[in-house]
Amino acid sequence: MNLFRKLFGAKPVQSTVRDDHEAQSAKSLSDASPRRSAIATGAPTPFQQLANERNAAATTGGAIAAEWSWRGGTSGCWIPEHEARNGRVYAVRGNWAEEKGFMTAGDGYTDEITGPLEEDECRCMYVYLYALRNVPDAMVTAAGKESLARARSLIEADRRRRSDASSK
Ligand SMILES: [Zn+2]
Repeated sequence: MNLFRKLFGAKPVQSTVRDDHEAQSAKSLSDASPRRSAIATGAPTPFQQLANERNAAATTGGAIAAEWSWRGGTSGCWIPEHEARNGRVYAVRGNWAEEKGFMTAGDGYTDEITGPLEEDECRCMYVYLYALRNVPDAMVTAAGKESLARARSLIEADRRRRSDASSK
């Protein structure tokens, strides 16, 4: 009954402590909220915040893949798996090139691994790739290669047209 009153705002707030308890039980009844799981995993560190911002900007900017850059050295990352990831290219899931059937995941997807800076002792970063021509050959499908070749021949034809025009 308390829960019912709480949900419909009929009960005046008496004690914040008790209120919190009720809020918790209300949440566990209505399944975990995203906010609650964020609290459970802790607030992001400044580095994690930075990584999240970079990731959001790259995704908005149309990044199709990300190359892992391992940062060894005195102030670097000493996680062995991260050193092994150096230079590997991970696809951004659902990107435009993948949707057109132009590329495959290659070494996997960025959402399948813990990202750079996600672990406290990590100082790695992603170099985001935005163009199909910058993605490793092995990740580009036959259709993707065809599309790249078509684009190249269009550019070449355009270049030839312009040099013809200027020589007249
Ligand atoms: Zn690292």
